[in-house]
Amino acid sequence: MTILIIEDEKKLVEILKKALRGERYAFDIAYDGEEGFQKALTGNYGLIILDLSLPKKDGMDVCKELRARMIHTPIIMLTARGVIENRVNGLDVGADDYLLKPFSLDELFARIRAVLRRRKVTEIPLFNIADLVVDGKRHQVTRASKALSLTPKEYRLLDTLIRNKGQAITRKQLIEEAWGPHFVETNNELNVHIRYLRRKIDSDRDEPLIQTIRGVGYALREA
Ligand code: CA
Repeated sequence: MTILIIEDEKKLVEILKKALRGERYAFDIAYDGEEGFQKALTGNYGLIILDLSLPKKDGMDVCKELRARMIHTPIIMLTARGVIENRVNGLDVGADDYLLKPFSLDELFARIRAVLRRRKVTEIPLFNIADLVVDGKRHQVTRASKALSLTPKEYRLLDTLIRNKGQAITRKQLIEEAWGPHFVETNNELNVHIRYLRRKIDSDRDEPLIQTIRGVGYALREA
């Protein structure tokens, strides 16, 4: 697992590098918010240590935009600003924890371990059925190792089906997941999007995974 450090204070970066090496963590460094954001977008990191005040892109924006792009890598925010609202905001925009500067390295490692432990319990990033794989962390779908490009709606539908694989999911449930609880179908939207999804997932297959359950909805099942 590699930790990404996004921090512009060179002195602190040197201290962190030494400490992480001592604890046998691999790491990568970005010295401004934009570079850090681009690196984090790859989804290749097990954890991100993110400073709040950074050149080019504020830590708060980095965090918010990563979560909006479905990058769910755990984030520990570092903040020198002693204002309590900032800390609360950090958690609001999707950080997992925060540390007030100056902090002790013991404290930092305790937080890293706690965040990783917590994530292991709650996170189920990979779902698969037959040779279809949905990687929730990276928001990627592959069938027979070939990447498929899904629209956000198609992804939500597939995600719901695969999280409940084998079970019949009602039309109502699927519509709620993909369009929200207040959506009222006017043009057979669900059928239309399921048809698109089938074209991507099941085209040219003798045994389709998406099955219509009459009078109920759909299920993802191996024939
Ligand atoms: Ca800074």
